[in-house]
Amino acid sequence: MAAAATSNKLSDSDSNITKSSSGANTIATNEVPYPHIFQPLDLGHTQLKNRIVMGSMHTGLEDRFYNYGKLAAYFAERAKGGVAMMITGGISPNREGWLIPAGGTMNSRVDVINHQRLTRAVHRHDSKIIMQILHSGRYGYHPFVVSASAFKSPISPFKPRQMSISNIESTIEDYARCASLAKQAGYDGVEIMGSEGYLLNQFLSRHVNQRKDEYGGDIHGRMKFPVAIVKAVREAVGEDFIIVFRLSMIDLVKDGNVMDEVITVAKALEEAGVSILNTGIGWHEARVPTIVTSVPRAAFVDYTAEVKKHVSIPVMAANRINMPNTAETILSSGQADLIQMARPFLADPDWVNKAKTGQSDLINTCIACNQACLDHTFENKRSTCLVNPRACYETELTYKPAKKVKNVAVIGGGVAGMSAATVAAKRGHKVTLYEAKDILGGQFNYAKVIPGKEEFFETTRYYLNELNHQGVTIRLNTKVTKEMLDEANYDHVVIATGVVPRSLEGKLEGADNPKVISYADLLSGEQEVGETVAVIGAGGIGFDVSEYLTARHGQTLHELGPETLKDPSYRPEPQSVSEWKQEWGVDDNAIYQTDGGLTKPEKIIPSRRVYLLQRRADRLGKDLNKTTGWVHRAHIKSHGVLQMPGVTYDKVTNEGLWVTTPQGQSQLLRVDTIVVCAGQESVNDLMPAVTDLKGKAVKQKTTQYHIIGGAKLAAELDAKRAIRDGAELAAKI
Ligand code: NAP
Ligand code: SF4
Repeated sequence: MAAAATSNKLSDSDSNITKSSSGANTIATNEVPYPHIFQPLDLGHTQLKNRIVMGSMHTGLEDRFYNYGKLAAYFAERAKGGVAMMITGGISPNREGWLIPAGGTMNSRVDVINHQRLTRAVHRHDSKIIMQILHSGRYGYHPFVVSASAFKSPISPFKPRQMSISNIESTIEDYARCASLAKQAGYDGVEIMGSEGYLLNQFLSRHVNQRKDEYGGDIHGRMKFPVAIVKAVREAVGEDFIIVFRLSMIDLVKDGNVMDEVITVAKALEEAGVSILNTGIGWHEARVPTIVTSVPRAAFVDYTAEVKKHVSIPVMAANRINMPNTAETILSSGQADLIQMARPFLADPDWVNKAKTGQSDLINTCIACNQACLDHTFENKRSTCLVNPRACYETELTYKPAKKVKNVAVIGGGVAGMSAATVAAKRGHKVTLYEAKDILGGQFNYAKVIPGKEEFFETTRYYLNELNHQGVTIRLNTKVTKEMLDEANYDHVVIATGVVPRSLEGKLEGADNPKVISYADLLSGEQEVGETVAVIGAGGIGFDVSEYLTARHGQTLHELGPETLKDPSYRPEPQSVSEWKQEWGVDDNAIYQTDGGLTKPEKIIPSRRVYLLQRRADRLGKDLNKTTGWVHRAHIKSHGVLQMPGVTYDKVTNEGLWVTTPQGQSQLLRVDTIVVCAGQESVNDLMPAVTDLKGKAVKQKTTQYHIIGGAKLAAELDAKRAIRDGAELAAKI
């Protein structure tokens, strides 16, 4: 087979690791790469071994006791990976506080025994674990919901009952009892959830709390309930137990608190006995994104830093921190004492150990897509991770050393192929990865150039480094043929040849007009695009393309030149924090006086006239993912994209695109360019036929063929399935 260039090692986007003259990343063996991250923190009665805390995530495993074995394995893997402390998913102190009916509990001796499985598993690896106590208040999905005042939230169909004084008092006792039981179960502490719009945040803010009694009114009345809970918990658990309070540093909702009020609460919580203040950002109902991939890294750290100036207990920064250099910068500049990351530990349980040993370029970075974690939670499915399908499946998807080393060829260097190749090589197989183009990454190379999706670069960087690390032979610029495969006689051939964009030629008159290009032509920078554009197809890619065409930040590939995309180390510049805040109406002043930190979003003058079209009469973007779709819909609206559902495409002429509107009128869209985003078709021609033309089984050769990802099924192709397909197959061969 033709030999081709192998790929060089890539450094992560914010690595502080130096490059040698040969281009490889190097680090002196006696150097501590991130000195502030790896400085222990003394809490008086105990120490945290470093400054990294895994934040609370609802995985879905905590709600059913029979899943606690799986949950223990999930925590143990991350404890082994070096994290100093972990916070469990939310456990309600009582029935009213359930997030979902019959959610996880800590009410009885049986609960204590179940939770001991988790604490023991973590302590075996010299890490700490604390249990989050979360009362959902009006965010609960059940009829017993309560709140500060009887106002329904926009994200739950159930109207809450206003808590009576006796209900408040019994709830304070429930928190204290729950914390005592957590201590009996071996937890090192508890986190009291007071942010993201849950019950205690509902009390703290005028957005919900309209009470006229002692638990309402000014901030001193509104904070009375949370402060009383902290006092009761401290009294119940004694001094040798960590109490973290997650405080909303900026509410991002109408009538939310101002910074002075946040500081008043922080000081009172310290006084009441809190050991660590954690950061919460925005309520779940806020119309400002706080954790999705388009939020710039560390966008909210200034608010945490402001609160830190007013308390003497350690303060933890959170939200959109995913790589060591960002964490180190925050710690070294004194903006926070600890860093909380949640999803990055789904993506890579070994994040801390990799940072410690100078291997941050091998971190499998969380790209903040939400597709397999938060979106699953909202669909009542077990969480996992798009880039790490083992997350929450630690006991089910295992990468055991292969009993017999096999010769494996993987054809196609997109994420499905790279996933299969890395896992197969990790298990000890001899793997060769073939790619027809001169760069690995497939569709992710298009995704990373979409404004707000720059993080997707990290996945291709991770795979490229991991392939090298695992000793996979990489053959770029190699178009594999059936004859080549026959001749090479591999034990296993994995067809991961992916997809091509669906062409409308033969389906739409004039589709061969030079005005018509595919999204791949556009996002590879290979075709020019005019000032007025029609985008055919409003799926995920139609939205992405519309955002790319109307972007205001960064340079487009057309400015940089198509050669840029062929450089695997090219990472597009993300939007600056201040520009992003202006766009979304977030007060940039750390001592914000505006309610909830909200300002008027900046009016955006569209840079191009873009029409986004679909044949279905539904609202555009209706089927986009639950936790991110609204951000994309808001983005194209604010960037002036003209949305046209329910159209029929009639023809393309030199004048533009002719459509029939839902009202039956023929309309010409005078556009320079038409970008087709009409889905994909599988490329699977290397897969041998299982049956001949008469339906008779074809005798198979010694080589076993497998097909994965988009090559297997193009419809509803997503990276989550592609990466999982690759990993599951490679775990078995
Ligand atoms: P898609 O979601 O299937 O959307 C393609 C759209 O093209 C369809 O909604 C369809 O809309 C239209 N279409 C299909 N055949 C057509 C034809 N013959 N003529 C004209 N229009 C046609 O595919 P995609 O946008 O390419 O995305 C691929 C996958 O990647 C999807 O699973 C998507 O979820 C995922 N993805 C997600 C995101 C995100 O969440 N932001 C971003 C990128 C990709 P009508 O029939 O109604 O016109
Ligand atoms: Fe991060 Fe996406 Fe994985 Fe969730 S699914 S942990 S957001 S990479």
